[in-house]
Amino acid sequence: MTSVFVDPSPSPLALLLLGKAADSTSERGVECPGDLPPASDPGLVARAQAAKDTLGERVFILGHHYQRDEVIQFADVTGDSFKLAQKAADMPLAEFIVFCGVHFMAESADILTGDSQQVILPDLAAGCSMADMAEISQVEQCWTDLEAAGVAGVTIPITYMNSAAAIKAFTGKHGGSICTSSNAQRSLEWAFERGEKVLFMPDQHLGRNTAVRELGLGLDDCVVFNPNKSNGGLTVDELRNAKMILWKGHCSVHGRFTPECVDQVRAEVPGVTVIVHPECTYEVVEKADQVGSTEKIIAAIEAAPAGSAWAIGTELNLVKRLALAHPDQKITYLDKTVCFCSTMNRIDLPHLVYSLELLASGNVVNQISVDPETSHWAKIALDRMLALPGVTPTLD
Ligand code: SF4
Repeated sequence: MTSVFVDPSPSPLALLLLGKAADSTSERGVECPGDLPPASDPGLVARAQAAKDTLGERVFILGHHYQRDEVIQFADVTGDSFKLAQKAADMPLAEFIVFCGVHFMAESADILTGDSQQVILPDLAAGCSMADMAEISQVEQCWTDLEAAGVAGVTIPITYMNSAAAIKAFTGKHGGSICTSSNAQRSLEWAFERGEKVLFMPDQHLGRNTAVRELGLGLDDCVVFNPNKSNGGLTVDELRNAKMILWKGHCSVHGRFTPECVDQVRAEVPGVTVIVHPECTYEVVEKADQVGSTEKIIAAIEAAPAGSAWAIGTELNLVKRLALAHPDQKITYLDKTVCFCSTMNRIDLPHLVYSLELLASGNVVNQISVDPETSHWAKIALDRMLALPGVTPTLD
């Protein structure tokens, strides 16, 4: 096999060679050139700063960990989706919340912020492929299938933060809770105290990893509900026997890491510690040394001693920033053919400047607004998560 670990000397980052060639397993239609394009106009940084200065305390900019450097430099706070939404709610004087993230995150911010605050997504095309894998009509059909199988009454829906507001509202209406990658274990324990089964949406991998590794369920306690097949592609008996009904959804970024990536980096980086996000497949998580949310990954690197070697399985923008911030460590990206989160990366400096300048001139653009009924039920599901013992408001 040809080695893929290259001499990183051309770059200060000890990263695996970024993808330069076509990869038949990559997300269709997404190229992975390995380098982000520069801002198209050298004056964009000054324009963004000027517009932000004009708006002053009226604007609060949230930057998700996976955002581009050119955008993150303007963020008032960085973090994961739930933490950011809560930070926005903690800033009631900010009229405009500019969410540099993806659509479901802006929806969550709108649900958690006050009526006088407006949430802006700089590019409305910034969605999330995982969230898009669960449409509300499909979820309602799934519940009808569970009712027909006679198991809906003993099933508690648990929905990952990475989902549309309508799915969160469905969860609230049906007695369920939201979870983050940090509190998925506690959420599942809460659900099994109230029901016999869990319908986990939309990320099958987080659901399986948590149920099997944290709760001690067997892989054969889990079934995968495929919304594109009749009855989810499952028999009635399979639905009745399962403890975890996992929605067939996944993250197109974290789903790229394979067990072979882990084997390869271990062979090429002596003493490496492999740390991955729980949105990775069960096989990858089993092979890794550590698993944790984005915040946990950051904390692990920050606490690590100089000279330690890490291979990180999460989105590349964050890994690159960690590598730059910790030059005394050998930080490697886990995949050889990398892919940024293509939808996250739609938020670029031109889009940020566009939205800030229009806000400064009195024009609200790209507002994300969740209708009151949806917002009400989604908030109930979010509040159930916040009420879980051991869940603090800033966890994710
Ligand atoms: S990294 Fe994955 S889960 Fe996060 S926004 Fe991108 S596609 Fe969605």
